[in-house]
Amino acid sequence: MRKQATIDLRSDTVTLPTQEMIEAITTAKLGDDVYAEDPTVREFEELAARKFGKQAALLVPSGTQANLISLMTNCKRGDLVFLEAQSHIYWYEVGGLSAIAGLFPWLIETENGAFGYEQLENAIRPKNIHFPEASIICVENTHNRHGGTIVTPSQLEAISQVAKNNSLKLYMDGARIFNAAIALDCDVQALSRHVDNLMFSLSKGLCCPIGSVLVGSTSFVEKARKTRKILGGGMRQAGVIAAPGIVALEKMIPRLKEDHNNAKNLAEGLATLRGIHINLSLVQTNIVTFDVDPSIIDDEEFISKLAKQSILAALQDKNKIRMVTHYGISKENIEATIAVAGKILS
Ligand SMILES: *Cc1c(COP(=O)(O)O)cnc(C)c1O
Repeated sequence: MRKQATIDLRSDTVTLPTQEMIEAITTAKLGDDVYAEDPTVREFEELAARKFGKQAALLVPSGTQANLISLMTNCKRGDLVFLEAQSHIYWYEVGGLSAIAGLFPWLIETENGAFGYEQLENAIRPKNIHFPEASIICVENTHNRHGGTIVTPSQLEAISQVAKNNSLKLYMDGARIFNAAIALDCDVQALSRHVDNLMFSLSKGLCCPIGSVLVGSTSFVEKARKTRKILGGGMRQAGVIAAPGIVALEKMIPRLKEDHNNAKNLAEGLATLRGIHINLSLVQTNIVTFDVDPSIIDDEEFISKLAKQSILAALQDKNKIRMVTHYGISKENIEATIAVAGKILS
């Protein structure tokens, strides 16, 4: 029997560029972007800024670097940064905000990733000789570790009100911001208008091979360009990265809906299986997280049995398994995944 092609649900970062992206890469007009002379990068950055209703944008190599650049640009060493307790910046970026930027993280726990107005207002530390100076609030949208949950425009508005009340900046780690916009069926500007600056990823659901983008005011982006340089992120003929980015912004956003439908079907199917616990209300975009009952099967054993059937899932925490839908994952793949999981658990 022919071995089944791998169904890789570990992350949407595994997506490969489309044929159209490959063609865009091979035909892109190039120049030296450190001299601001790459026409494709300039076109892409203008397009990205317009898309978000902001003045300017900056192409950077990764989401991790985008977040670090933003923090270093918005804050000064020793400042306090308000972060959601499960945020990607806190969990998965090697502590760069402290190790490199000299910043002090202050965590606020939330139920599903979005700060509430009162909760946030109460958590803000007033000016006091004993405290570091607070400079920024970071929101994550969609929220990765909470399972791809959305921070809505009205929640963002409330958060931005708290930021204004306290003279703090508001930054959005919007690695998957287009997933939020598509799930809400709103323009991405309904989300971006509430924040001072934000980043989004090209290399996740949008299928580009490389890249993230910072978006904000002209003065923010000018400073960020310099911060990118000090971190070694100045790139030369970066049009090869920007060219598929243009394809992504023009063509790849509406199809995220398919990923959301697949995630919903996957979650509903898994929820019927013995030993799997899923909170379906948290399956709002393309991420499905669930617990397996350890008395039935150990989490790592479950993942390795799936892998033997060419289905890859990720272990997020003890007993917390994550599956992410993306370009290239079909309805049939979802059905196969539910069927195989059912067999392993029966
Ligand atoms: C993936 C991700 C990042 C980091 O992006 P990389 O390109 O992998 O460095 C940052 N924030 C969130 C919410 C992410 O999901």
